[in-house]
This record gives sequence, C-alpha cells and structure tokens, in this order.
Amino acid sequence: MTRAPGSIAFVLSVLLPLTACAPAAPLYDVVLSGGRVMDPASGLDSVRNVGIKDGKIAAVSTEALKGTTVVDVTGKVVAPGFIDLHAHGQDAGDMEIQSRDGVTTALELEVGVYPVAPWYQSMEGKAPVNYGATVGHIPARFKVFHGIDVGDWPLNPQAAMKAGLKPAGTNAAASDSQVAAIADLLRQGLDEGALGIGFGVNYTPGAAQSEIERMFAVAAERKVPAFIHTRAFGIGAIREAIESALRTGASLHVVHIGSSSGPDLPQALALIDSVKASGKDLTTEVYPYIAGSTRLESAMFNPGWQQNLKIDYGELQWPLTGERLTKATFDKYRAQGGWVILFTMKDENIDKAVAHPGVLIASDGVPFVNGTGHPRGAGTFSRVLGRYVREKKLLSLMDGLAKMTILPARRVETVAPAMKNKGRVSVGADADITVFDPATVVDNATWEHPTLPPTGITQVLVNGQFVVRDGQSVKGVMAGRPVRGLVKAAPPATH
Ligand SMILES: [Zn+2]
Repeated sequence: MTRAPGSIAFVLSVLLPLTACAPAAPLYDVVLSGGRVMDPASGLDSVRNVGIKDGKIAAVSTEALKGTTVVDVTGKVVAPGFIDLHAHGQDAGDMEIQSRDGVTTALELEVGVYPVAPWYQSMEGKAPVNYGATVGHIPARFKVFHGIDVGDWPLNPQAAMKAGLKPAGTNAAASDSQVAAIADLLRQGLDEGALGIGFGVNYTPGAAQSEIERMFAVAAERKVPAFIHTRAFGIGAIREAIESALRTGASLHVVHIGSSSGPDLPQALALIDSVKASGKDLTTEVYPYIAGSTRLESAMFNPGWQQNLKIDYGELQWPLTGERLTKATFDKYRAQGGWVILFTMKDENIDKAVAHPGVLIASDGVPFVNGTGHPRGAGTFSRVLGRYVREKKLLSLMDGLAKMTILPARRVETVAPAMKNKGRVSVGADADITVFDPATVVDNATWEHPTLPPTGITQVLVNGQFVVRDGQSVKGVMAGRPVRGLVKAAPPATH
C-alpha cells in the first residue's frame, strides 16, 4: 500500500495541536519542594523536588512539581525515613515518640515475639510507623516450659510474673525433646512471616550453647538471620555467638555492640571485621548512649550478674526515682519488678562504634512507663545526627544516614522483600521520608526527661502520610504497615 503524498503533513497537522495541549503536569498528593535530597543508596546529594502519589515516591526532579499539598523544605535535608531494627516500644504512644526522632519503621528483632501471627494481627491499624518482628527464642522457650503465650516477654512482664520471677523457661536446661519443640515453634513463627529469629541468651541462662546452636541451625536451614543479645557482656560471649554462627552457617546480627562488648569494644569490632572479611554475613548495631536499660527482675540479674555485666550496684539507676541502687534497694526493686538503667559504657567506645564503618544505628528503645524510661527511645537518631555527625564530626552526614536507612533495609530485605522499597529516596520507593535541618537537629531527651522530642526534625511521612508535620506530631494517623517475611502458612483463626 502506498500513502498519498502529503499524508505526513496531514498527520503532523493533526498531531501538533495534540502535542501542544499534552496532558497537564501530574498532580502529586504531596510535594516536598526545594530540599537537599540525600539518598545513601544512590549517593544522590542535590536539591530536588520530591513528588508523592498513593504512598509512593513518584518523582525526584529538578523540575517544579504540582501537588495537592506542597511543603517548602528549602534548606532542609530530605532523607529516607529511619529504620530501627531494635525497637521494643511497640505501642502507638512509643511509636509516636519514635516518629518525632525520624523513625518510620520500628522492628522488634532482638527479643522477638511468640506467637507471631496473632502479634501481627494485633498491630494492624494501630501503628503510626511500619512494624515487624522476629520469632523469639525467649517466648518460644517459655511456651515449651510453661504452656503460656507471653507475646513479647520480657517486655510483657505481667505474663512472666504470673509464672514466677525465676521461671524454668529462663533458668533450667532444656531436654532434647524440649529443644526439638522450641525449634518447631521457631519454624512455625517463620512460616507466619517472622523476620528471622531473635535471641536474648542473657535472659535465658539455662539455655546451653548446644541449644542455641540447634536454633541457629533453624535460621540457617530457613536462610533467615539470627539477632542475638549475647550470654554476657564482653568479648568472650560475642566470640561464642560468632563461632556458633560459623559452625551452623547462620547469618548473624549482634545487637547493641556498645553494651554487649562492654570494655572490649575495640576487640569486638576487630573480630567482627575479620569474620566479615572472610565472607560471613555478620552485622552489628549500636545506640549512642553510655547506659542501657532492661528489667530488673529478669534473669540478667541472677546471682553472678556483677561478673557477667562487669558492673556493681552503684552503676544501676531506678528511673522512677532517679536513685542509684544499693544491695538493699536492688533486692527490694527486683522483687517488685520494673525497668532499670545500667551505666556500663564509656563515651570513647560509643564514639568508636557509631563512627565504625558498617555498624548500624538502632535504638533498643524500651516502652516508656508514665513518661519514665531510657531516652534512647526518643532521641537515638537525632542524637547521632546532632552530636556525632555535626558536633564531634566523627562521620559524614551521608555515612550517618546510611547507618539508619539503607544499611538496616539491606539487613532485612533478604527475608522481607518489601524492604527493597524502603530506606531509599528514589522513584518507586515507599514514601517513608524524614525531613530535618542539618544545622539544628539534635536530641533533647535526658535521663530526667526521657520522652522530650528532638529539635530540627520537621516533617516525617510514613507511606505518604504525615505523622510529623512542621515539627509537631499528627495525632491518630496509623500509617504503619506490616513488614513480613515470606509467609508460608495461613495464620491460625483468632477467637
Ligand atoms: Zn538487649
């Protein structure tokens, strides 16, 4: 077939006017305009406009963008929302406090939960930020010994107290059949979407290392990471965990290296670096404080705790009154139960860990009780940005951001593919975004006032919704979605 001469001119005459009235520029739900986009995954560090549509980042552009809501963020950094791999405060109030610190995903990976499916169901529609958990060796062991579902014990003290302060689930050795039963519960939890296996061996001193290795073998078999709070503080316990991971082939994440390595922090970082260099999947994290926090009635304070933790009564503080403990007050409060603060660390070691390449930032934030608790649940991320990056200049802003965005996303994305869309400011990523002023960002939470929000974090979006707007919490926005591993079984029916 031949075309009549002039047909091209005809086509052009029809098309050109169409081109001239091409569809209007897209209208985004939210535009963050004029900010300095810092995306550690790609290395982008330039002024860009960010367009958000249907909960996703739809444009990162030098062009002006139109939006239903446009926020001028000139002079501010637009970063991926912070991903906290170690967040025990999993109720809306604790999450709201964390969101003020720029956190958009708060995962409970250390202690974990059991059972898993009901826990995910219980969080639905109740979380301002994204949530997820490992299946926990502590609660699974408790179930096998006592038949009790404790959920996230030791953070659900009522259930644990019901079984007595020194339950067999923490202090007694498990028989072969009990070990097999615990391993089965962990497999069940992974089938229900858990993000790996959580361990707090310090809280289950009755668990022999052979038992821990049987559980590491489950992690290896299912190709999920093990997250561990080691048996004691110091290089010996860290070496024990790493050797078990090497023997079983499990991927390993050692939590809060600052407290767990105690005075041996330089040796612990050197050991981790050398094992990583051999190709092992091994990571660690730190919170930027010289004191930790845990429950005083837990098995961490069984006789021998001074040797295990390398501290004495005077290093313990009771946050409800602010007093340092003595033998008498230790005994009294341990019988009563509650959160205690442990001054165990040195500033110079925390400086080293925060600045060390590859060490993630994670809060270990514990639930706030009547406004008391540990400030790390309110200030970990702003504290790193303000004090360690800006004031002490121990690391660059981009490196600091990587430790709270892309590195934690990668730690979890092999088991939870959804994490490939988090920790990034790029087209197609989830619109989890934190906007802050690099000149003023800093934590304000203290031992006396642990829930005070930071300065300088102005906007926080979770799945495209503002949870912090112009420096204030937006109340009642439950924008968080579950982060799950690969679910292999239907969750059990709820009653
Ligand atoms: Zn811990």
